[in-house]
Amino acid sequence: MENCIFCRIVAGELPAAKVYEDEDMVVFKDIQPIAKIHLLAVPKEHFKYLSELNAERTALVGRMLEKIAANAPAFGLADGYRLVINQGDSAGQTVPHLHIHILGGQKLGWE
Ligand code: 5GP
Ligand code: ZN
Repeated sequence: MENCIFCRIVAGELPAAKVYEDEDMVVFKDIQPIAKIHLLAVPKEHFKYLSELNAERTALVGRMLEKIAANAPAFGLADGYRLVINQGDSAGQTVPHLHIHILGGQKLGWE
């Protein structure tokens, strides 16, 4: 989608520190990390919200979760990690393209 930052990263039009890519998604380092390891898993298909899931997107997000789990050791996250999806303004969603935050590399607190 034109003017979407994450679509432009997916297309290679904007630089990002990519650590993984396949037919479904790219995973790259968050530009403002809030944990020692902070990655973003972004589907290649543009849609904004988790609330916009349909059957195909549900399967896509399922494959993303499976592949995040499979690749966690390669991401330096063998000891564990936290996945976060911010849905909407109240949760602080700032980029209107679904993304899964992958956080770890340290002991994580819980507010
Ligand atoms: P949200 O608040 O929407 O859940 O998370 C958006 C995340 O994207 C933030 O953690 C922010 O630091 C990250 N981000 C925003 N723009 C860019 C960018 O151009 N490159 C990268 N690598 N991360 C970005
Ligand atoms: Zn997009």
